[in-house]
Amino acid sequence: MKNLTNISVIKELLEKYGFKFSKGLGQNFLINPSVCPKIAEYGLAKEGYGIIEIGTGFGTLSCELAKGADKVVAVEIDSRLIPVLDETMSEFDNFKVINADIMETDLNALIKDEFDGLKVAVCANLPYYITSPVIMKLLESEIPVDAITVMVQKEAAGRLCAKMGTRESGAITAAVNYYGTAELLFNVSRGSFMPAPNVDSAVIQIKPDNKYRNKIHDKSLYFKVIKGAFAQRRKTLANSLNSAMGIEKEKIYDILREIDLPETARCEQLTMDNWTEFVNILKNII
Ligand code: SAM
Repeated sequence: MKNLTNISVIKELLEKYGFKFSKGLGQNFLINPSVCPKIAEYGLAKEGYGIIEIGTGFGTLSCELAKGADKVVAVEIDSRLIPVLDETMSEFDNFKVINADIMETDLNALIKDEFDGLKVAVCANLPYYITSPVIMKLLESEIPVDAITVMVQKEAAGRLCAKMGTRESGAITAAVNYYGTAELLFNVSRGSFMPAPNVDSAVIQIKPDNKYRNKIHDKSLYFKVIKGAFAQRRKTLANSLNSAMGIEKEKIYDILREIDLPETARCEQLTMDNWTEFVNILKNII
């Protein structure tokens, strides 16, 4: 098996296939040998599991996933990588690559077709230009996965894993919290990639659960409120929801009082329990 974190091996492949990294596709490949085994271990690449990988590069993470899991199906948009993977992944008969855009891929169908009888998890070193859309797609499609373990920019990791009710939280935090629980696993320095990006990274894990999905009575209202509130996060909740959704301020004050929050509350002060109560009461009065 080729050591895909070895610079000379990578250079050989670059030359052999005339491959040039595409900045537009977020192609920063991992070259730090300690990172992929860790992602694979946290990411449930073990017996009984099928893993969906997003973006293979030369297959550095794919190898580690295929070593542990029963099956790995990777979705890779760049057709130039397919012949490279034919070579680098040749010894793994439990690995399959689909040449497609993850944003256009029907993940529920993929799971049904590829992972019959297996538990499923998602692992990826995500292309950073579509981090949030990919994470939202994974969550919104409500695919039956035990964990989503992904490398993202450190700054994005901070938002995704922020605690609700703190200044670090944002609309994406509120969205993630609706579907599950996010945790920051470990940081990865920019020097771990080729070419090195301008920012550091972190690996996070989202475990889907029903904690809030079951409690929030109107999903679409929750997402409308979150979007409206965080779009003008410096304003008070009453002001931002009044301008975003046309809800009378008095009604918002009433709800805030009912849930023991001041009229001046801003969106970043509300915990998930606060949002749950807020939206459930709002649903009954509008
Ligand atoms: N997993 C490899 C690694 O860790 O070395 C590569 C990670 S690189 C950050 C991101 C990968 O995602 C690239 O291979 C890129 O071509 C692929 N990619 C970019 N946009 C994609 C999309 N929309 N759908 C599927 N793959 C995509």
